[in-house]
Amino acid sequence: VRKKLVVGNWKMNGGQARNVALIDGLKGAIPEGVDVVVCPPYPYLAQVKALAGELGVGLGAQDLSEHSAGAFTGDVAAPMLRDVGCEWVLVGHSERRTLHGEGDQLVAAKISAALDAGLAPILCVGETLEERDGGRAEEVVSSQLASVVSQLGAVAMAGLVVAYEPVWAIGTGRTATPEQAELMHVCIRESLAGAGVAAGVVRILYGGSVTAANAAALFAKPNIDGALVGGASLVAENFSSICVAA
Ligand code: 13P
Repeated sequence: VRKKLVVGNWKMNGGQARNVALIDGLKGAIPEGVDVVVCPPYPYLAQVKALAGELGVGLGAQDLSEHSAGAFTGDVAAPMLRDVGCEWVLVGHSERRTLHGEGDQLVAAKISAALDAGLAPILCVGETLEERDGGRAEEVVSSQLASVVSQLGAVAMAGLVVAYEPVWAIGTGRTATPEQAELMHVCIRESLAGAGVAAGVVRILYGGSVTAANAAALFAKPNIDGALVGGASLVAENFSSICVAA
């Protein structure tokens, strides 16, 4: 049985005072039996580690460099993330892919850097609206996965979490239906299995306009193992309701 995992991606939001209030608001509201992780912006990782650690909430970064150190101005390396207490890292979020031109090859290199440093990577995949309307959603997502599997090998892949985030559902209020998400999660698990990955142990999260109102129906699907939550993770009561629903 795969333990449910709920990850809050704060994106470029937060501030020292707001972080304290948000984490305070989660006190007593995080259920047992669910893994809960928050991913604040880099400058707040150490602060949030100190606050969230005592709640049993894990810490993740939103991105990392594929290099381990050196002359890479503005970048942050995996060993640094470990050093400040991160256990998790998002890789290949659609906002990185779109706004920073990150392609599958770079995504695979970042995953490899994360694994080398002992971080658990959360690989984000998902199709655009145009790709879905063109009937190519499964093909696009399978190819995003295949390129990472081919660079990393099947054994390393079993240590990953995959987050399916349809681009058209991110920040739009338009969630995939539980049926749409489940179909894609099955496709992801099958493509991993087809590549020789122990796919039964891989947790596959859904992301894209997850709210306290729609989380339970998503989590009821057998292949939806949790959620990657953006906007709703910035309000303590909404985020804790989603954790409870898991
Ligand atoms: P929203 O939950 O705001 O749609 O964001 C989803 C997301 O991109 C999480 O990584």
